[in-house]
Amino acid sequence: MSESDTMPGAAAAVRKIIHIDMDAFYASVEQRDNPELRGKPVAVGGSAERGVVAAASYEARRFGVRSAMPSVTAKRQCPDLIFVRPRFEVYKAISRQIRDIFAEHTPVIEPLSLDEAYLDVTENLQGIPLARDIALKIRAKIKAETGLTASAGISYNKFLAKLASDHRKPNGQFVISPEMGPAFVETLPVGKFHGIGPATAAKMNALGLFTGRDIRNQSLEFMNANFGKSGAYYYWISRGVDERPVRANRIRKSVGAENTFSTDLDAFDALVAELRPLVDKVWRHCEAAGNRGRTVTLKIKFADFEIITRSRSVAAAVAGRDDLERLACGLLEAEMPLPKRVRLLGVSLSSLHAAGESEPQLTLGI
Ligand SMILES: [Mg+2]
Repeated sequence: MSESDTMPGAAAAVRKIIHIDMDAFYASVEQRDNPELRGKPVAVGGSAERGVVAAASYEARRFGVRSAMPSVTAKRQCPDLIFVRPRFEVYKAISRQIRDIFAEHTPVIEPLSLDEAYLDVTENLQGIPLARDIALKIRAKIKAETGLTASAGISYNKFLAKLASDHRKPNGQFVISPEMGPAFVETLPVGKFHGIGPATAAKMNALGLFTGRDIRNQSLEFMNANFGKSGAYYYWISRGVDERPVRANRIRKSVGAENTFSTDLDAFDALVAELRPLVDKVWRHCEAAGNRGRTVTLKIKFADFEIITRSRSVAAAVAGRDDLERLACGLLEAEMPLPKRVRLLGVSLSSLHAAGESEPQLTLGI
């Protein structure tokens, strides 16, 4: 694609957003871990008799099997479909692995689900000039570390990046440059717009709006009058404009760890000894995700299952692991002596934000 110097004066404002999406994530993990499932139509979740499909392998998709489809329908469409129980612990662990890979490039990561995230790489930790090269690196590392493939969309906003990641799926990537954006949206059916559900799409169709071009031909007033506060969003995305920032921790508002003991404890020293590995775990996670937080919460579950939580917020972000331990121990100390024996302790850090936020530098090209 051409460099953004074709947009004089606008280069500094051009953001570089990557949308990463694992390919048929749950189904691919099951095929990875069970060679007998490879090359076969697999549905994760549900059974031949009941439930819904959570994810389908590409082999199953060829028969029209889709996620959220009732299993019975799926089995009818694809009689050889193999149903597999989901293993969310495994998916979560892989999700953490891929987020750690993202975090090597940027702290500004907005997960949408276990297998999808937006990354703002306008300013990136390795100083790689082109976002497409970052996407290639991330996908190669995901493949090397997890054996799984991911697709990427690269653009100057979230809306187009998400659109782009679908364009070369599976195991591909696609760039939508600022020059291409408006044309890309023009022919897109409104039902394919991220954020426009079936009900809104039907309403748009009834108003004669079938594609991006149709929306673009309407005034902002028209869109506001018919679609309320979403009207402006539709108006702007139909022009390829989307100023929504990538929000780190939109989903994960806190990082926590907890542990249930094999025997109930009440001595302060013994409890502190149990607290330390939890602090380590929380801090490691914050470092990997590039997060800093201001509020420390201690959770105590007593032998009779009563739970209390105690929190303390500090003015500036907790600076390091030892500070976190000091604050957590302080909260525990304030509860001594404890009225009952303790079966579980938990530590979490919240009021999170991305570490090291600074001025974006001027870089050309996405
Ligand atoms: Mg996916």
